[in-house]
Amino acid sequence: MTPKQVIALIKKEGIEYVDCRFMDFPGLWQHVTYDAEQLNEEAFETGFGFDGSSIRGWQAINESDMLLVPVADTAHRDPFLDRPTLAIICDIKDPVTRKQYSRDPRSIAKKAEVYLKQSKLADHAMFGPELEFFVFDSVHYDQRVNTATYAVDSVEGIWNRGSKDPANLGYQVRQREGYFPIPPMDSMTDLRSEMASVMKQMGLPIEAHHHEVATGGQAEIDLQYAPLLRMADMCMMYKYIVKQVAARHGRVATFMPKPLWGDNGSGMHTHFSLWKSGKPLFAGPRYAGLSQMALYAVGGILRHAHSLLALTNPTTNSFKRLVPGYEAPVHLCYSSRNRSAAIRIPVYHNKPGSKRIEFRCPDSSANPYLAFAAITMAAIDGIKNKIDPGEPLDRNIYDLEPETTENLDRAPADLESALVALEEDHDYLLEGDVFTQDVIHYWIRYKRENEIDALRQRPHPYEFCMYFDV
Ligand code: GLU
Ligand code: MG
Ligand code: MG
Repeated sequence: MTPKQVIALIKKEGIEYVDCRFMDFPGLWQHVTYDAEQLNEEAFETGFGFDGSSIRGWQAINESDMLLVPVADTAHRDPFLDRPTLAIICDIKDPVTRKQYSRDPRSIAKKAEVYLKQSKLADHAMFGPELEFFVFDSVHYDQRVNTATYAVDSVEGIWNRGSKDPANLGYQVRQREGYFPIPPMDSMTDLRSEMASVMKQMGLPIEAHHHEVATGGQAEIDLQYAPLLRMADMCMMYKYIVKQVAARHGRVATFMPKPLWGDNGSGMHTHFSLWKSGKPLFAGPRYAGLSQMALYAVGGILRHAHSLLALTNPTTNSFKRLVPGYEAPVHLCYSSRNRSAAIRIPVYHNKPGSKRIEFRCPDSSANPYLAFAAITMAAIDGIKNKIDPGEPLDRNIYDLEPETTENLDRAPADLESALVALEEDHDYLLEGDVFTQDVIHYWIRYKRENEIDALRQRPHPYEFCMYFDV
């Protein structure tokens, strides 16, 4: 849509409000609602002023004026709001230089697309993320122990999970067998269909939806793949729709990577491929039907995986998911068959157009603009520098004897280790000015001060189990 078409749509559909949406630094959508009259053609150029100092991770208070610049082709009707409202995604610009604000995650995703094109390696990076999430009946936050407990079907609470084997008297999904019995065991089919229908209505093409492995209402709705920036926008719409539909039913959805101990976590496996002149570049005669270029991309992602995870798995909770036994990757290797490897090469279809690599580490606590940009940069680095990914590992890594796994590279154990890796290894992200030194530096600082230290200084609920009676 062009600005003119958006304005025509506003008139035709009697839109009263324009809801401007943008991404903060860590990865939550923010919004401000304008009277529809305010959105004239000029506003698409000049933007709307706002105070950027209150946005997490942005400008200092003394340089806080920012511009929200609506992006016409992201405009869509918001079906959740009572008054007729058009939602529109915005870029952030500096009012003085009129340049894209370097800490606006969307601007980083845009720069990654430009850098890829300029490299002449490919025209587009295509992304197909699988966002998993839990739907809970309700969450009670207990101030005294600073933890949340969930009212989950058949579950005692997060700390007891897995320690009991309750009788299954109510068509409940069995422990870690949620993938995927038919209703009435899967009581979320209608809820997921409603989410998927709203997605389609809002322009998000979907392929399928299903219950996921975990017992307490874990779900996945699969989007059709799309180019980097568009897919990052779509991820934000996806999360918004999932949470809004859940809320309509008096329930809560969470994309937190590991809400329940002893059960599967929620990942965001990310399918990735490169395309040029409408042709897929990852299909070829090498291992598992890959091209040499795809293998180098695998090499780049594995080489930089430790630092990459600071952006694709950027929360303290992310690393509670990356443990053995829950279909989440632990070892940094690749394989065509193996779901315990960090990179899997799906071999369902041998059509060149569906040849891609599946990076299984990411989770949905990532800011998708930063995560997809960083994955693209690691892949480009691998291709440019012909990084050999080594031999694939086609055995179930969880079952390997310790002598074999000892030598395998492992995902960082916690967020701090990933941040240390990012401190040491980020030149590949700075190429083409895609990520700036300031963004890397500030990301590390933000995460340490606001998340790692905040958690480290608090007594943990499980410490009460281990230490209360010392
Ligand atoms: N939930 C698993 C994870 O944390 C993935 C399950 C699947 O293979 O889809 O990565
Ligand atoms: Mg899944
Ligand atoms: Mg997958």
